[in-house]
Parts: sequence; structure tokens; C-alpha cells
Amino acid sequence: MTLQEKIGQMTQLEIGMITDGRGQTMQIDNEKLHKAVADYGVGSILNVNDEALPVAKWQQMIGAIQEEARKTRLQIPVLYGLDSIHGANYVLGSTLFPQPLGMAATWNPELLLRGSQISAAETRKAGVPWSFSPVLDVGRQPPWPRLYETFGEDTYLAMVMGVATVRGYEGNDLSSPVNVAASLKHYVGYSDPTNGGDRSPALIPERTLREYFLPTFAEALKAGAHTVMVNSSEVNGIPGHANRFLLTDVLRDELGFQGFAVSDWGDIRNLVFVHHIAPTEKDATRIAILAGIDMSMVPSSYSFSDLLLQLVQEGAVPVSRIDEAVRRILTVKFQLGLFDDPLRGVGSQTVIGSAASRAVSLDAARESITLLKNEGSILPLLKTAHILVTGPDADSLVPLNNGWSRTWEGDRASLFPNDSVTTLKAIEQKIGATNVTYIPGTTFDRELDVTKTVEGATRADAIVACIGEWSYAETPGNIPDLTLPDAQLDLIRKLEATHKPVVLVLTEGRPRIIRTIADDAKGILLAYNPGSEGGEAIADVLFGDVNPSGRLPISYPRWPNRLFTYDHKTFLGADFGPGRTLAMPQFEFGFGLSYTTFVYSDLHVSPATASGGQTIQVDVTVKNTGGREGKEVVELYLHERFASITPPLKRLKRFAKVDLEPGEARRISFALTPDDLSFIGLENTPVLEPGTFDVLIGGLTQSFEWK
Ligand code: BGC
Repeated sequence: MTLQEKIGQMTQLEIGMITDGRGQTMQIDNEKLHKAVADYGVGSILNVNDEALPVAKWQQMIGAIQEEARKTRLQIPVLYGLDSIHGANYVLGSTLFPQPLGMAATWNPELLLRGSQISAAETRKAGVPWSFSPVLDVGRQPPWPRLYETFGEDTYLAMVMGVATVRGYEGNDLSSPVNVAASLKHYVGYSDPTNGGDRSPALIPERTLREYFLPTFAEALKAGAHTVMVNSSEVNGIPGHANRFLLTDVLRDELGFQGFAVSDWGDIRNLVFVHHIAPTEKDATRIAILAGIDMSMVPSSYSFSDLLLQLVQEGAVPVSRIDEAVRRILTVKFQLGLFDDPLRGVGSQTVIGSAASRAVSLDAARESITLLKNEGSILPLLKTAHILVTGPDADSLVPLNNGWSRTWEGDRASLFPNDSVTTLKAIEQKIGATNVTYIPGTTFDRELDVTKTVEGATRADAIVACIGEWSYAETPGNIPDLTLPDAQLDLIRKLEATHKPVVLVLTEGRPRIIRTIADDAKGILLAYNPGSEGGEAIADVLFGDVNPSGRLPISYPRWPNRLFTYDHKTFLGADFGPGRTLAMPQFEFGFGLSYTTFVYSDLHVSPATASGGQTIQVDVTVKNTGGREGKEVVELYLHERFASITPPLKRLKRFAKVDLEPGEARRISFALTPDDLSFIGLENTPVLEPGTFDVLIGGLTQSFEWK
């Protein structure tokens, strides 16, 4: 390969660089395509221009790109990439699943695996063999606008879910017409910005980084993930794209990553204009490539290719570094089977948005919905009751899906499937439209017809208030206040004052503070962003056709200035001393109610004393003591009483979701390895210290000694 050909492979452009028009009218511009693929030998193209396209249009456009590539000297296929965040969301008619935070709330990795297989197959059917997913940033900052793209605040849960996603996407063979390459993002530390906003600096000591943020990436790499996308922001003053320690020493030498690392959007250039660590784009390019970036998501100019060529010709970047990056990129293209068939997947049997696939999404939505409050067993509601449905999220598919849904910000309702129903429509279908009065009451942040809504409440048996957020993606989703907007809180307070039972249905990508309305609400359901089948799933849970089994993958805060994760360190006011109740979260991580009851007994931990390479066997019995079948999540937490680094209150180490008939009991067994007992110590490496460990499951505790 010539140097230009190699640098071409390292270049990724956005689709606007080879097309004219936007959305459905977008067409390949042959001259622009020729410049990109023939003149510059561009290795990868990404994204959507404005909105999702029908599968046939994707196939035709990507077909034209590959045809142009076939005419080049080396005939290297172009690698197309899309953000399939919750399904093949940029393919019209595709199955839209709950957003990842909702998928985490299912605590059901098998369901996520199945969903990821469908997402991969539908993405590949469009001719796209690469998905910029999963987000493996652990979501430990509630205001962060990308929280809903994560698997929540806990490292272990996110690790299990991340591995399931990678397995679902990649299968055993990347070249299969139903698999795509995963991209683990955003490596690493992106999700913990000090100010809570997107693309904002983080301060994360190496020990914390290794304890909480690296393991999700490490495990997904062990599961075979082929690409990694880099953190746009900075950690400890070093931008992700300039961090040679993280990109090379840790990612390559320590974690053994063999695939390629792609930059995020414009982030080499951003080393100049955002991070101010390089005075020119040429300096930035040198720094990023030497740090370990293999492919640049430029994405809207040829500057990267031109500058990198100059840098190599001047000897500022060695050819060996270029060869290394190109070898990694070409290897993934080979593994994807693109050299045999650049359009692999287009001819597959996959049906976009089939009934069977949407049934999986419906299952996932049903299992994600988390019942947080059910005073006096107000839920399930009677199907004969007269219901007032209100709130800004009641009659729209937009908040059910949130961002990355047909458009980047998910804000165009007309692009969702005609036969997907909103929560309002699903309730009407279930109990009959004559039993339902709908008055919106308020928009997301502006009062509409509150007086009329309150009047409507007096004629209803119960009120279902669908509140929460509208849609957003990335930086436009930054908010100055985690509290739910006043317009919604005021409406709910007035409805609660009628003393008619109010059930809150929250559709939101992050936990908006509801302290002032939570106490007087009789029921609270958190639906996250449950996807296109979410309306139906919510109605199923409200009226008892489905017994809720979601559990919180985040701590739900009570106060905007008291934000902490469940696995925090002991602090005065929260865990002991005055102010304890005030500091408590609204709802705790791992919490979720059911329409039945579960009782735990006979927690047995053995041996009582262990050492060396021994494993700890944990057994517990869980019984469904209520009147209907239900799913329970058995959560095993571990607490070390004393350690050289202040031990957190507890850490999740294992979980299992079990389905139990009324009266049925099951013995659940877990094995804890020495690795599970270790933490990142003073030297930033894992250590296992002798001491007493408490095993906590379902309100029971048993201890063992590690010698
Ligand atoms: C986001 C990435 C995404 C990329 C391509 C960026 O702005 O941070 O998560 O993959 O755009 O759409």
C-alpha cells in the first residue's frame, strides 16, 4: 500500500461529505464520492444525514460506496458505521428496544443478548457492519445527559450487560450476515464529569478509574469486542485523545486489545479548539496518532488525511505507527467478511421490525418497568375504573424512545412506526376509550390546562400522570437542575390535593427529582425510555396483565445536591448521625416492587474461614409468598468491614433473576472467587486483604473470614 492509501484507511468521514440533500432526499454525489473513496481512499464512512432511511435506501447508498471502492487499485471495502444504540435506530421501521438504562433495569442479560442479536441483524441488513455501541461508561452522574445510554451506576451490572451486548452483536463470527462489530465507548472516564454536563472535564484518580470505570471495558474486550471509541473529554487534565497512557499502555499492553481505536466526532481537531493542548491541528494530529488513535472520525474535511501525510513525510510520525493502525483496521474488515462481500447482510433473511423482534422488545420493556411505590396496593388498577390520563408524556412516542431514535435527538414523532401506541392509546385499548379521559395538563415545562385537568380528576376513580422528560441526545441534553420542571410538579400537586389516587408514570432518561410529589402519590412506575413497545408495556403493568420485575440500576436521588451512588463510602449524615433520613435517596439502587411478595431464608456462606485460591459458596432460599407468579432479582452484595482503602458500604457481586409461581421456593447458589473479594489498592493494583466480609442478600447477612 502507498502511504496515501494507508492514511486513507485511517480516515473516517460523515455521509454529508459524499452526498447532496438531507433526509429522504439525500443522494450520493458521484463527484464527492469519487474524491473520498478514489482520491483519498477513505476507509470508513459514518452516520445519518438528519434522519433514518428505509433499509432499501441504505442498501442502495452503501452499495454505491462499495462499488466506488471496488474500482480503486486495491479494492478495499469501506467500513460503514452507525449508532445502533437501542436497535437499528437509523433504519426506518426497525425494532426499537428500551434504551440501555432500561435494559439494565431488567437485570436480564439473556434478554439483552437476544435484543442485541436483533439489533445487529437489522443493522447489517442495511449493509452496515459496525455499530457504535455499547456505551460502557458507568453512569455515576445522574444529570449527565447520556445516562440513559449507559447500564447504570454499578460496575458489575454494567459489565454483565456490556458482555451480553457484545456477544449479541458479534456472535462467534463477525463475518456472519447477522453480526456486526461492536464499538466500546467512550474509553474511558467520559461519564463522570465534575459538573454533570456532557463533554466536560473529569477528575478520576487512577485507583478509582481502575475500580469503577475500566472493568466494563476490560470484560467486554475479553468477550472479543473489535473496536473502541475514545472519550471526547479529559480526565485529570489529559484529553482522552491525547492520553497515551490510557490508549496504549493500558488498552493495548495491559488489556491486550487487538482491534482498532476510533476517535469520537472531530476530537483530534478539538485538541486545539476545545482542549487547548495543541496550537495547530497538525500538532493535534501528531499527538493523537502517537497516543494510539487508529482511525479519525474527522468527519467533515480532508484535513486529517493531508496533515497526517505531511507528518509522516516529515518524520514526525513513524511509518511503523501507520502500519500498525492500518493493520488493525484491515484485520477487522477481513474479519467482517467485507473482502468477500462488502454488502454482506443485505441478502440475509432478516426482516426489519418483524413481529417476533418487536415481541422481544415488548418483553424487555415489560421487564424493565420498575414499580417504586404502591401504597395500599393501588396498583394494579381495575380495568373497570374510570381513569384520567394526563401529563406531557402520555400521548407521544418521543419520550418513550428518547434520543438516537430515527433522528439524533429522537424528536420527530412522524418517523416512528404507525402501529406503535403511546401510553394513552395503550390504556384506551386495554380498558376501552370510554373509561378514559385525557387532558394533557402541561407540556414538558409549560402549563396548559391545569384547571380543566383538576376538574377532570373529580370525575375519575384514579389518575395516571405520565410525566418526565422530552427527548435529547448528548450536549443539548445538559440541564442546570435535576428537579422535574415546575409545570409538571405543580400539576401533580394540584391533582394530589383532590385526594383522588395519583399514579406517576415516569418516562425519563435520568432520575429527575420528584421529592415534592412522591409522598402523596399512591403509585410510582419508572419506565425509563422503554422504546416503541413501551406504551403497551406500561399499560400491561398498570392494569396487572404483567407483574413488574424491573429493579433500579441507579440510585434515585431525593435532593439535587445530595447525589451519590449506592456503593459510596461511609459519610456522616448519610449512614449515621443526624440528617440520615434527609440524605437518603428517594429510592435505592436495586430496589423495585412486585405485585407478589418474596421472602428470603437460610442464607448459608461457606467455608466460614477461607484463604488462598478458595471460593466462597453462597446459598439462599427465595420464596414467592404472595398470590401470583412473579420474577425476583436475587442481589448479592459484599461488604468488607475494614480495609486499607476506605471500603464502600457494599458492592454488587452477583445477581440472578428467577421466575416463581405462588408458593414456589428456589435455592439459589453463587460462588465468589478471590477476585470478587479484591479491590484496587494503594499501588493501583488489585489486592485482597484478610478480614471479615459480610454477604448481604434480601435483608439477610452472613459473614466469613478471609485469612
Ligand atoms: C458521540 C458518539 C457517536 C458519534 C457518531 C458523537 O457525537 O459522542 O457516541 O458514536 O457522535 O455519531
